[in-house]
Amino acid sequence: YPPVFAVFPPFFITFASMNYNRILLKLSGESLAGSQGQGIDPGRLASYASQIKEAVALGVQVGVVIGGGNIFRGVAGAAKGFDRVTGDQMGMLATVINSLALRSALEDAGQPARVLTAIGMFPIGEPYSNRRAIETLEEGAVAIMSCGTGSPYFTTDTGSALRAIEIQADAMLKGTRVDGVYTADPEKDPQAVKFDRISYDEVMARGLKVMDLTATALCRENSMPIRVFDMDTPGNLLKLLRGEPVGTEVY
Ligand code: UDP
Repeated sequence: YPPVFAVFPPFFITFASMNYNRILLKLSGESLAGSQGQGIDPGRLASYASQIKEAVALGVQVGVVIGGGNIFRGVAGAAKGFDRVTGDQMGMLATVINSLALRSALEDAGQPARVLTAIGMFPIGEPYSNRRAIETLEEGAVAIMSCGTGSPYFTTDTGSALRAIEIQADAMLKGTRVDGVYTADPEKDPQAVKFDRISYDEVMARGLKVMDLTATALCRENSMPIRVFDMDTPGNLLKLLRGEPVGTEVY
């Protein structure tokens, strides 16, 4: 830190966290599976819940969109003979299962949370509206917005871009198992180099698989900053919110 921040670290922390008053955190269903590869890993779920609780304790309003890839993906269903719309509806229901699991883990950790669903399924969740989500956040509860966009042929990346824009989040934070955006898939290519910052246009021009194109384009059109970071390392979310250089910023 510069000397002034070494003398007044609390000031530094408060100042830095002011960049993030409200965030939309995207969690992938696949990461929730942990080392099991499918289903819900209780340890990973508890780790996500405690990191989210820490973020709220820092004074940040946290909206969450969670994927469903650990349970079902529409494309995989279509390959097995389901029609695509039915497959995607099954995928959206998978996001509800993960959302309920996350709410339960947050409540166990003492952090209030609500599940809002884009497809009506009261009493499992309350119907989503951006006003209800914002009200929930302003009460200090976590708003878990499930079913992605509520429509087939989309992904939860697009759902989280949309919700981030609707709730006027300061940024969309995409928590994955990779610590940022690389020139190639770092799990497959050891030569891959990480970007600290990269523009939406460059992501699209290079065909980088940070998020699907629809989600990236939606963020670009609405100037929604994205930060891709490794959420599977406990403590990373808090570091990011405190302004430490974690992950890659897409601008
Ligand atoms: N899905 C959908 N519309 C949406 C969001 C999700 O139809 O707006 C379906 C789609 O079938 C997708 C599945 O839900 O494959 C699970 O979401 P996703 O693949 O984004 O989950 P993740 O990869 O983040 O685990």
